[in-house]
Amino acid sequence: MLSSSPNSSLKLSDSIDSLPGVGAKTALAFKARGIKSIKDLLFYLPNRHENYSIITPINRLRPGRVTIRAKLNHSTSRRGRRGLSITEAIASDTSGSVRVVWFNQPYRLRNISGGHEYFLSGEFKLSNKQFSLINPYTEIVSDLPVNSARIIPIYSETKLLNSSMIRRAMKAALPLANRIKDYNPRWLVQYLKLMTLAQAINQMQYPESEQKLKLASCRLQFDELFPILLANELSRQQRELARTLKVPFKLDIAKEFVSRLPFKLTDDQRKIIWQIYLDMQGEIPMNRLVEGDVGSGKTVVAVMAAVMAMSEGYKIAFMAPTELLAAQHAQTIKRLLEPLGLADHLILLTGSMKEKNKRYVIEQANKINGAFIVGTHSLLTSGINWKDLALVIIDEQHRFGVDQRQQLQKLAGYLPHCLSITATPIPRSLALTIFNDLDLSRLVELPIGRKPIKSFLTTPSDIPDFFRNLIEQLSNGRQAYVVCPYIRPKSDYDQLAVESIYQMYQKKLPKYRIGLLHGQLSAEQQNKVMRSFIKGEISILVATTVIEVGVDVPNASVMAIYGPERFGLAQLHQLRGRVGRGEYESYCFLILSDNLEPPMRLRQFIATENGFALSELDLALRGPGAIYGKLQHGKRMASLMNFDDHGVVDLAKRGAVSFLNRGENVINYPGLAKRVKLAQQLTYLN
Ligand code: ADP
Ligand code: MG
Repeated sequence: MLSSSPNSSLKLSDSIDSLPGVGAKTALAFKARGIKSIKDLLFYLPNRHENYSIITPINRLRPGRVTIRAKLNHSTSRRGRRGLSITEAIASDTSGSVRVVWFNQPYRLRNISGGHEYFLSGEFKLSNKQFSLINPYTEIVSDLPVNSARIIPIYSETKLLNSSMIRRAMKAALPLANRIKDYNPRWLVQYLKLMTLAQAINQMQYPESEQKLKLASCRLQFDELFPILLANELSRQQRELARTLKVPFKLDIAKEFVSRLPFKLTDDQRKIIWQIYLDMQGEIPMNRLVEGDVGSGKTVVAVMAAVMAMSEGYKIAFMAPTELLAAQHAQTIKRLLEPLGLADHLILLTGSMKEKNKRYVIEQANKINGAFIVGTHSLLTSGINWKDLALVIIDEQHRFGVDQRQQLQKLAGYLPHCLSITATPIPRSLALTIFNDLDLSRLVELPIGRKPIKSFLTTPSDIPDFFRNLIEQLSNGRQAYVVCPYIRPKSDYDQLAVESIYQMYQKKLPKYRIGLLHGQLSAEQQNKVMRSFIKGEISILVATTVIEVGVDVPNASVMAIYGPERFGLAQLHQLRGRVGRGEYESYCFLILSDNLEPPMRLRQFIATENGFALSELDLALRGPGAIYGKLQHGKRMASLMNFDDHGVVDLAKRGAVSFLNRGENVINYPGLAKRVKLAQQLTYLN
């Protein structure tokens, strides 16, 4: 074990430069990576490990990763082609000799001496027609090797901070790992046969064996999953104890609604609405998420659920992410309520309404029996009386956060039925872990008659073609979206900022009206631009991703996305869903910045129309950390999490159930409580 005598004068909270061997310059490099204290360093986990623990006699070397224990002689250094520095030496043990080569490590010449014995760990392979040991980690033989002759940690490196520097600092810090306090209950750690956190950090950084490394990684994965599953279990238990308004199912109401639709429901829609009716009949509040691509018919399902509650004289609240979307939804919903004679039950309330208007609308909302109230998230605090609120529908959010649920409970006096609808699919494995307190419904089947959107990768040499296509569409009366990854240029040469692209389009297409839309314009300006686009007064809308969710302009047939490498697949798919909403053939162009081979995920994107498949692909290619890590308020989680490892998921589930069955309370474990709280705030993935 590396934890020899702990340096008793050091504390975990001490600054990184108090470690022996870490000077001011190295400390700065660490700080640039967010590693300020010794504790931060200990929690800086390797990306992977390489096992160099088996020492092979030189005469038995086979190609591959090897470690030898040898003396070094005849060292030389020279310049190779293109200025490459080549340092060579001959390594010998009692069994034989081998050539050792280091590329671009001229300092090796100074550091090796004939008298010492070294561990050399690296790749044994053919180089310059001779089997050699290439670029080995080289370290004087000692009881505590850091870089060789063991399972060694490989960290993500920067120019100023390489793995070897991190390992040296880690070695100095590791004796303090034993002081790391476990934030989980001791009995739980023992009951689940987990390593302690201190052991896990020790073994993760410098594993004694593959077996211990596995146990360490299992413990750390557990720590990422357990708070999430505990939060879910808590929310499930609370929900099951809560009572709500029952909404009895009435066949004639459902039949009437369906008979007035201008189309037939898909089988998926039918199944899901039936499930929702069953949920709403019960006294336990519903907590259901309906996922489905743009245009899969989620709104219809939600309105059908609402109609049942309205027939009992109950209120419905529908919350959209923006005022514009709220207004659009209100229109769609009104159209669906009209044939039933319920159009005047629909109420739209937005923050930008005039005071007088607002007061009138609130009065109406309180007066109408069975009001369907549409607005943004501020709806709940608007002063409407929320007694008799039976159903809350939330658009483009995966689930209700704890705060939202508490607010609802306070306003209504009970927890209403909650329905989330979203076009951003959650990969199945994440749904079963991070969102396992939700009942999940998927609209996979698209209504018939949807035309697939033709998608293209456009390299700089394809740009003239792209503009020809665009102009053809515009001259046929269609409209186009042009999406850019950010508002301001990131450098002087930056072509991808929304302002630069806006100007470029104005110059290039002077005949057409072009609008600019991004989040730094006032809400009023944004609304104005969006309205002119909806009305068709603007032909091209150059925008950031503010147009991502929900905007519905059936006449738009072109979506051009600049810098597509900067977007996740789910987001690209959302953007693509802005077109193809009408009768017209529609196109999506991913405008690449160079002529290089485009990344695999973009090639997959243009070949796949299925949002669920894309979400799985995104998970496989980017990992769970990229998908939900950032959402934990900047704290990157799931760095190691591999959801295929169901062993850990089950362990965390068992842990959560045992914890609650024992009558434990997170309040007694502040470290755990903090993590549970973060998990409870997670309302959507991106
Ligand atoms: P989403 O909310 O999932 O984006 P909507 O419910 O707004 O989808 O439906 C998109 C469009 O498709 C609407 O114009 C709606 O009337 C229509 N639609 C919904 N369900 C069907 C169906 N089963 N068959 C044909 N058209 C449908
Ligand atoms: Mg919709």
